Amino acid sequence: MTVVSEAKQQNRPLVVAIDGPSGSGKSSTSRGVAKRLGLAFLDTGAMYRAATWLLLDSGADLSDHAAIGRLVAEAVYSISMDPDDPTIAINGTDVTAAIREPEVSAAVSQVATNLEVRADLVARQRELIAGADGGIVAEGRDITTVVAPDAQVRVLLVADPRARVARRHAELGGKVDTDAVTDQVIRRDRDDSTVAQFAEAAPGVTVVDSTHLNLEQVIDAICALVDTDPVVGAST
Ligand code: C5P
Repeated sequence: MTVVSEAKQQNRPLVVAIDGPSGSGKSSTSRGVAKRLGLAFLDTGAMYRAATWLLLDSGADLSDHAAIGRLVAEAVYSISMDPDDPTIAINGTDVTAAIREPEVSAAVSQVATNLEVRADLVARQRELIAGADGGIVAEGRDITTVVAPDAQVRVLLVADPRARVARRHAELGGKVDTDAVTDQVIRRDRDDSTVAQFAEAAPGVTVVDSTHLNLEQVIDAICALVDTDPVVGAST
């Protein structure tokens, strides 16, 4: 029995959970897997980024933890989980492009390390995943461990730090200087890892190293895990 048919038999939607540091290729890979398998796609980082955009836009003091928690809890998100057109709006404003701006990248870890913000967003992410009847690929930092530890397929996508900085540099069109990109990748991961455990795979999580693989090869590797028969060799 494959992971897919087992999920059907148990009447549970298929959930593919992918975690990894920045620049590991998580988003492109997850979208590619979702497209290939006809699943929905949830970029949980976009939710942390949207919350950060809202706080910056409202001029909130990011060090006021309680106020930040309240503001984020009251926010209304509208998220398209179509892997061909993932969009996100917060309180009625489409912020799909704005959340990729450097100001948001620089501040997002401060917001994501607020435990009230995390509790609020984790609850929303669980709801979105539970509502994805046709199955979903969800990616982030704590999907395999906190948001969906019972996902049928759990992957930690890793890559050499130099490869991650180079990729993020290319993604930004080579326009941002290397120090700023290094801050976005290495410093952000250091801050993020204080609240989410993505440096090492939790038990049952498969590590995929993308350092020497191209995008199609990483997508192939993850789709192969979905096709794997989990009960082969298991005692019945
Ligand atoms: O994946 P991306 O780089 O867009 O994530 C932006 C930020 O959102 C991360 O640096 C991290 O602070 C936060 N994040 C998180 N937990 C997740 C996804 C993202 O804390 N599940």
